[in-house]
Amino acid sequence: MLTLIIATRNRHKVGEIRAVLGDPHRYLTLADFPAAPAVVEDGATFADNARKKATEIATWLGQPGVDCPADPVWVLADDSGLEVDALDGAPGVHSARFAAGEAGVEGNAPDVANNARLLRLLARVPAAQRTARFRCVIALARVSATATDDVTLHEGSCEGRILEESRGTAGFGYDPLFQPDGYPHTFAELGESVKNGISHRARALAALAASGTLRTS
Ligand code: IMP
Repeated sequence: MLTLIIATRNRHKVGEIRAVLGDPHRYLTLADFPAAPAVVEDGATFADNARKKATEIATWLGQPGVDCPADPVWVLADDSGLEVDALDGAPGVHSARFAAGEAGVEGNAPDVANNARLLRLLARVPAAQRTARFRCVIALARVSATATDDVTLHEGSCEGRILEESRGTAGFGYDPLFQPDGYPHTFAELGESVKNGISHRARALAALAASGTLRTS
């Protein structure tokens, strides 16, 4: 059985990833490795950030003295966010820190503040122009004693639009404002079982599963 280390502390993401990939693997997360380095997400694209996270964590796990499970071990890192057409693709790679940027503060902002900023910026944008998409890039790196530069990237997106007010309580982030195309409800109203079938992350994971990259030998 292979071990998949999910390079995040976001429990919603861990739940989505496990639900889509299923249980043939043993799963660990960064919560199981408190000494893992914090990776600075300063890339210009989702792919840059996902690759950087997977590479830095896999390299750290491969060092002598780190208590890593026996081979085969893979690191799965995702970077994701929301692109709003009326905002020229913002918040994009800045999705997690959208409102913090506005306040001139370092680090991520609470979801409620990010959503409030998005609604303010779109206040005068009519419904037909509130198109948006969630995008996700997953990077997969195998842990080994030698430096890891063998990383594969897998992408998914989900088209929809931004509503004028929050609806629903499930999920996280921008879920209460995002209505995927073809559904009358937001991600936060649809809940995780529907979201896990159509989300950007589910589609990137499906691409990963179809690629045959995850091997036990
Ligand atoms: P990161 O991928 O951990 O850097 O997070 C990116 C940010 O994008 C999150 O903090 C959320 O604000 C947003 N985001 C990414 N995926 C989702 C999702 O599935 N639902 C709602 N918001 C999301």
